[in-house]
Amino acid sequence: MDACWQPGCIPAGLPGAWVVLQGPGGFLLDAQGPLFPDAWVGEQGLATVAEYGLGYYDTVPVYLRQLADQPDLPGCQWQSLRQHLLHGDAKYATLLGYAGQIATWAWEHRFCGACGKALTPVDGERAMECHDCRLRHYPRLSPSMIVLVTRGDEILLARSPRFLPGVYSTLAGFVEPGETVEHCVIREIREEVCLEVCNVRYITSQSWPFPHSLMLGFHAEYASGEIVAQPDEIEDARWFRLDALPPLPAHRSISRYLIDLYIARRLGHAEPVLPG
Ligand SMILES: [Zn+2]
Repeated sequence: MDACWQPGCIPAGLPGAWVVLQGPGGFLLDAQGPLFPDAWVGEQGLATVAEYGLGYYDTVPVYLRQLADQPDLPGCQWQSLRQHLLHGDAKYATLLGYAGQIATWAWEHRFCGACGKALTPVDGERAMECHDCRLRHYPRLSPSMIVLVTRGDEILLARSPRFLPGVYSTLAGFVEPGETVEHCVIREIREEVCLEVCNVRYITSQSWPFPHSLMLGFHAEYASGEIVAQPDEIEDARWFRLDALPPLPAHRSISRYLIDLYIARRLGHAEPVLPG
């Protein structure tokens, strides 16, 4: 995480702020990044839909301003959050991931899920409250596991029909209510490829704001079984030797990190670093 970035609830209208601009398809960036001076933004005549205080960047307040459209602005380009996280300047990845999640959560929590009345923001806290039934709504995170299964010099990779052509990745799935994430690892592998695993170990995590996942990365060793891919979910799954891997996910993804980490440890190379 960028040490300059400090998320938090800030009051509206603090002077001298930075503004992050979000359109329907992504964020605005110029050569310096996604932070624009409030005064400059005010001169552009933009159609604002909503604004949220995000926190501080290098002690300067930062607001997210949502726009109704994505106008052309000189020296700037619009970039999707996914494109930015996987290929953009890693320095701002955490800030934009946070901004995206807050915007989605705020939009989906305008009304109380219990009684249907309008919600209002809670001062000094990232929460929305219903004044009718007093229920509070907080930003939601959905824990998911992602796992690299290995068998000596082979790793298990699979293709979903929604992947880019040719790309294979690690297995992943959402944690179900009532189960531990370790149980989720074992269950998902069993469901998706009919294999049993052992030595399940947590490695690291990555925020995955599409729209609100927290990816918990694991390594597991093959124990038994033959691959039988789950229909609809898995287009193809197979063992790949480390010296004959298919096209892999982007370097910034935790999936790629788990693969590269195993290769580095197996071959005695320097270990990769996962940004974020
Ligand atoms: Zn309510």
